Amino acid sequence: MFVCQNCSRQTQRGEKAHRRPTIYRDKVYPYRAEANCWHEPSKTFPADPGGKGREVEMEITICTSCSEDFKPRMMRQAAAAPTSIRHRG
Ligand SMILES: [Zn+2]
Repeated sequence: MFVCQNCSRQTQRGEKAHRRPTIYRDKVYPYRAEANCWHEPSKTFPADPGGKGREVEMEITICTSCSEDFKPRMMRQAAAAPTSIRHRG
């Protein structure tokens, strides 16, 4: 039993809880030099080119009836990413 975080209803015993993301944020992953050190036992370490993605910032637990057509509430702007992260040394 739990209280639905969307409709505030006390659920029945055994009712399934659904975890749903409510807030997403854009994420920019920086370039990382020599990040992939697991590829070969050789001396080359390919770089991670970085890129853009989306992360879950917050999620809630809701009941089955609320989960049927639940929509996330908002999207946050991307945080400023550092220009590069050096993996080694
Ligand atoms: Zn609910």
